[in-house]
Amino acid sequence: MRPKFVVGNWKLNGSLSGNEALLKALLPEVRAQQARHCAVCVPYPYLGQARQMLSGTAIAWGSQDVSRFDKGAYTGEVSGAMVADLGGKYALVGHSERRTMFGETDAVVVDKFAAARRAGLTPVFCVGETLAEREAGVTESVLARQVDALLDKQGAGALAGAIVAYEPVWAIGTGRTATAEQADEAHAFIRARVGAKDGAVAQGLAILYGGSVKGSNAAELFAKPNVDGGLIGGASLVAQDFVAIWQAAVAAG
Ligand code: PEP
Repeated sequence: MRPKFVVGNWKLNGSLSGNEALLKALLPEVRAQQARHCAVCVPYPYLGQARQMLSGTAIAWGSQDVSRFDKGAYTGEVSGAMVADLGGKYALVGHSERRTMFGETDAVVVDKFAAARRAGLTPVFCVGETLAEREAGVTESVLARQVDALLDKQGAGALAGAIVAYEPVWAIGTGRTATAEQADEAHAFIRARVGAKDGAVAQGLAILYGGSVKGSNAAELFAKPNVDGGLIGGASLVAQDFVAIWQAAVAAG
């Protein structure tokens, strides 16, 4: 059985005092459980605070992005090695907000995935279609293009132990959630795409759903066979909402 993951994405939010209050509220609720994992992906300046507050707890931490470069004259960039040096375990790569607002192409996202891997981080590789693409009936070809960019350059083996997050762009931060059936269908498609190259990697691959997950819809989503947990944006900023989603992951077993 694949482990369930609940990963929070704080986006461009937080302050030392606010983060401390949030993590202090989460820590007593999130207990280490076999085959269930909890993490928060925080803004870079707060990685040190995550290290300080979360080391030795059941909540892992990571970054929301990572440079595709390892070191050198790249002003403003943060390398995977730096995130790992601070004890980070995860790095989101290819979040739709980075793809759409910061012009990250499939090729850049694949480079970032590889950089995260080189640093020993677990990449959370985000894919998903826009509303226009869904309405045009091209969801699968968009997912295929995004996943194939990785498979073609890195090979299916690169996904062993990594995480994929299916995040339909129309569901992120909109309050509009994909139905559990839509999510399961997209996840099954991604798994089959990887499976065509490497069945074992596909079977072991954690595929998370992201897009307006809340305490009220998490259980239904996590009950689907191909949904291995969630990547949580807005609800990860509110302790009781994030805890409710964590509890749904625990109950989903
Ligand atoms: C996200 O930012 O990855 C996300 C899924 O956001 P939200 O849960 O707010 O839709």
